[in-house]
Amino acid sequence: MAERFPHDINADLHMHSTASDGALSPEQVVRRAAANGVQVLALTDHDTVSGQQSAMETARGLGLHYVPGVEISVTWGGETVHVVGLNIDIEHPQLHHTLSQIREGRQTRAKAMAEHLVSHGLPDLLEDAKSHAANADLIGRTHFARAMVARGLCSSMGDVFQRYLTPGKPGYQAHQWATLTQAVTAIRACGGVAVLAHPARYRLSAIGHWALIDEFKILGGQAIEVVTGSHSDQDARRFQRIAVEQGLHASRGSDFHAEGESRFDVGAVPPLPDATRPVWHNWIG
Ligand code: AMP
Ligand code: MN
Ligand code: MN
Ligand code: MN
Repeated sequence: MAERFPHDINADLHMHSTASDGALSPEQVVRRAAANGVQVLALTDHDTVSGQQSAMETARGLGLHYVPGVEISVTWGGETVHVVGLNIDIEHPQLHHTLSQIREGRQTRAKAMAEHLVSHGLPDLLEDAKSHAANADLIGRTHFARAMVARGLCSSMGDVFQRYLTPGKPGYQAHQWATLTQAVTAIRACGGVAVLAHPARYRLSAIGHWALIDEFKILGGQAIEVVTGSHSDQDARRFQRIAVEQGLHASRGSDFHAEGESRFDVGAVPPLPDATRPVWHNWIG
């Protein structure tokens, strides 16, 4: 008889709070998840675990299964790649060391972004972007984008990214994030499962994707996002096939940041396709 997997559980293992570039506090985002029927969740802020304690306590109070998480920024083959760590030990020194190094780089990058925008004729947006970052230790492109929309310089977040903040555009600052080795090793060292986030977003050829996944697996990566807010149905089908072929567990997450900004609400992305093995099978069911 075929083995049965808990696909029917509403698991959302990718979302953001004010600890990084989400608009809701960790407590608010967990409450929103609960209200939307999420049963298993992970808050996965960029390069920080500072929201974890609050998210965990709120989730426990609401009877949800909480999975401690993070989303680590990586540079691989000249491309920015995100690796989600799930079920991590948020106290682990190696994890803290890796994350704090990445956060330091974000400060200098933000200054450079502001300078590029000034030389393109825009006002100096550094302080404004900082005021949009609830966590002074974690500034990113989303905070610049919110500042620019609030000032009426652009009509929407998508507009800012398209005109100013993506590679080749005037406000973009190329940046060296962690290596894939550093990210996966830190996640593994603290007992976590490394998940390759939103793979369809990377500007890689089929061979490039294959090489990335191969290296990720060799380093100890175990799962891949199949259903995410940044995948089309076609992307999900493609990476479902790849997950099965490569023996990777599949993850599902909204990548929710803010109402009105994110394509999907917490817990509201489509279910995982049947053929995949859900990563949450490791913790429940
Ligand atoms: P950073 O880590 O500072 O490079 O910022 C990356 C974040 O920018 C992503 O996690 C998204 O939240 C946001 N982002 C990237 N591309 C877009 C886009 N086209 N529209 C809206 N937000 C975006
Ligand atoms: Mn983000
Ligand atoms: Mn991401
Ligand atoms: Mn994300």
